[in-house]
Amino acid sequence: AKTVDRIAAGEVVERPASVVKELVENSLDAGASRITVAVQNGGKNGIRVRDDGRGIPEAELSIAVKPHTTSKIRKLADLESGVGTLGFRGEALSTIASVSRLTLRSKPQDAVAGAEVHVEGGDIGETRPAGCPTGTTVVVDDLFYNTPARKKFLKKDATEFDHINTVVTQYALANPDVAVSLEHNNRERFATDGSGNLQSAILSIYGREVAESMLSIDVKPDVDGITRIHGMVSNPETNRSTREYLATFVNSRYVTASILRDAVISGYGGQLSSDRYPFAVLFVTVPPDRVDVNVHPRKLDVRFDAEEAVTTAIETAVETALVDAGL
Ligand code: ADP
Ligand code: MG
Repeated sequence: AKTVDRIAAGEVVERPASVVKELVENSLDAGASRITVAVQNGGKNGIRVRDDGRGIPEAELSIAVKPHTTSKIRKLADLESGVGTLGFRGEALSTIASVSRLTLRSKPQDAVAGAEVHVEGGDIGETRPAGCPTGTTVVVDDLFYNTPARKKFLKKDATEFDHINTVVTQYALANPDVAVSLEHNNRERFATDGSGNLQSAILSIYGREVAESMLSIDVKPDVDGITRIHGMVSNPETNRSTREYLATFVNSRYVTASILRDAVISGYGGQLSSDRYPFAVLFVTVPPDRVDVNVHPRKLDVRFDAEEAVTTAIETAVETALVDAGL
């Protein structure tokens, strides 16, 4: 398929959480050090993502909400090496704007004033001056107002918010150097400090008990096909989380590959009785040419060249962390 077809095929806004995901990725791409996400009614009636990134020049605002206007993709190869490259499709803003009422407001650092453009069901309005701090704010109201069939499939607010929470949590954990906050119906759910410290991000999101049960991992396995494993795993003796929680990232991108989960669990060996839940946030770094990522925006699977080496290294790293902690 042509690049454009590949791009178009993947472009589906499924639910409020898909909108949040794209907007947060854009903020990260823009080099933000602070990202605040505020949603109303599970994101159905309002999503606002604000960042302090590099901003969009006034003249480019209306271009940014048109299809295929990415400045980030050069060729198909870029798409296929998509792990580690955020925002590679150039369609997110225009797609979201075609099924909502969207306002894009921005001010680059060196601009004297900000500006905004409003898009309603794909109809792009005039770009107007707007007072705003350096950075970008995207407001998405009335998602799916013009696609009632799609709107009908949305679940209740709490469920849609759960999806949003999952997405924002993943990005907050993957980017502890960015201060990420999430608010639902004007109530703050969490706010990380952007200090770069993973444990304090875990503390902000999951609370003191979980954070204090965490053991650090940072190894550079001396094998081909895997560069580094770092992150934190819970001490099963002290972790009282009532459910399993495993977040795995490959080259900074959140993935759900079951081989990673299995490797972590197997690293725990016999340490997990039925009432002990593992809690782990692990970053796996591999040479980009040794991993295949399914680029469909809703699939987060990966395939490693050196699958054995990767899983063995994870297993060993988890096991070693537990042994070092006297378990
Ligand atoms: P893509 O991210 O694939 O380029 P999008 O539709 O998500 O496509 O965004 C279109 C363009 O709008 C981006 O390429 C970028 O130039 C600009 N943009 C979007 N969001 C932001 C942001 N938060 N900060 C700065 N620029 C942004
Ligand atoms: Mg994008």
